[in-house]
Amino acid sequence: MEKRKERIVVLGGGAGGLELACNLAGNNKALVTLVDVNGSHVWKPRLHEFAAGTVDSTLSEMSFYMLAAMRGFTFEQGKVVSIDRQAQTVRLAAVRSQHGAIEGPERDVAYDRLVVALGGVTPDFGTTGVAEHAVRLDEKADADDFRDLFVAAILRSRHSGKPAKVSIVGSGATGTELASHLRVSERGFINQAVLESHQRLLDVVILEAAPEIMPGASDGLRKAVLDRLALLDIDTHTNAKIAAVERDAVVAEGGERWPTDITVWAAGLVGNPCLEHLCDFAMDSKHRIAVDNRLRTTVDERIYALGDAASFKPTPDAVPLPPTAQCASQQAAYLAGAIPKTIAGGTPDHFEYNDQGRLLSLARGGSVGSISPFRSKNDFLVHGQFARAAYQSIQRRHQWSVLGYLRGSVAIFADAISPAKSPALKLHG
Ligand SMILES: Cc1cc2nc3c(=O)[nH]c(=O)nc-3n(C[C@H](O)[C@H](O)[C@H](O)COP(=O)(O)OP(=O)(O)OC[C@H]3O[C@@H](n4cnc5c(N)ncnc54)[C@H](O)[C@@H]3O)c2cc1C
Repeated sequence: MEKRKERIVVLGGGAGGLELACNLAGNNKALVTLVDVNGSHVWKPRLHEFAAGTVDSTLSEMSFYMLAAMRGFTFEQGKVVSIDRQAQTVRLAAVRSQHGAIEGPERDVAYDRLVVALGGVTPDFGTTGVAEHAVRLDEKADADDFRDLFVAAILRSRHSGKPAKVSIVGSGATGTELASHLRVSERGFINQAVLESHQRLLDVVILEAAPEIMPGASDGLRKAVLDRLALLDIDTHTNAKIAAVERDAVVAEGGERWPTDITVWAAGLVGNPCLEHLCDFAMDSKHRIAVDNRLRTTVDERIYALGDAASFKPTPDAVPLPPTAQCASQQAAYLAGAIPKTIAGGTPDHFEYNDQGRLLSLARGGSVGSISPFRSKNDFLVHGQFARAAYQSIQRRHQWSVLGYLRGSVAIFADAISPAKSPALKLHG
């Protein structure tokens, strides 16, 4: 009798989960199901561009239903609320419409192997006022909210003559890239016809709690980023430990205040809060699921975790890998090989991370990064076209992995020519 196909369920269709579902789907020994709370996938590393309005998010948005039909997996839309490890089922909440009517019932999805790829969120560290008065760029809805606030603030500035003030708390990739892209957006509002070109519509400040911006970056990269931010007239303050965010000001522990129209909270990343309540996973101090060297959770070898939801230490004494799309993608590629091999009775090699460096796109400030080619221990500073190509290659690989080479190449071409065709600065997302 033919053996029943294994049911592999992937929770979360983000940078890592979607690539994994697409690459497992071709396997004839498994039935693959992808679960996501949303009906479409958005490539998270471009959220700052959608927020700034320099790129239209529809170009990077793909329907999970269409992808499922195209790649051969099943898609279940719903919010994951719990996992029953004994029954080997995942409970999904009912799907509700915007008006609260139930569109899909609460249900259980059965699995033989489960992969948790539910991502992470920006923590507020208990700081007063963040939830009420700051925007966090964790999902597309946040980028849409920011863009609405930004357009309204800059229109007010055009009429009042006083620059709109944006304060960004956190000087990592999200903070520095968003700040740079806002300068591009500002230009879209300057009225050339009446020679407003010298008018300043926007003041941007980046506030960092550490003594230097971009904690963890090499000195060379930090200096290159600082030079570019200065060129774009973006203010930076270090040692700024923020105690509270108010409606119209950001307040440091020492009492220093930065008046603000919009505050963006972009300080750090922790695991998705839902991970704590799914079942009895062992978690690290950043609320991520602890996994072993084959990305299996420490409590159940049939359940794996990857990306921002996982805490993987390359060696027992090392710090866990950083929450990046680069890491999520490598872990997805590893599991696309390791899970079928395990099902077939084999023993996969351990997961090995290949750090390809840190790259930033600072809009008119250019692209810059530090890379360590061929697993070298030394970082090399790169900039210009080479850095831009390396930066874009992460999304290009994602598009090819998800759409296949032909469709992926068409999507990449459309993306490349889109900014001229589709300015995204509009009042409604
Ligand atoms: C502005 C910005 C810029 C970035 N730039 C870079 C960069 O240049 N390079 C880089 O490598 N990384 C970058 N990153 C980090 C990168 O986006 C993440 O590390 C990566 O997306 C993590 O992938 P993931 O698959 O673990 O999770 P995600 O991509 O976050 O996907 C998680 C998925 O789970 C779904 N989900 C969440 N909760 C539930 C639930 N309860 N039930 C069902 N579904 C759920 C979500 O809808 C989502 O589809 C950036 C991040 C941001 C915010």
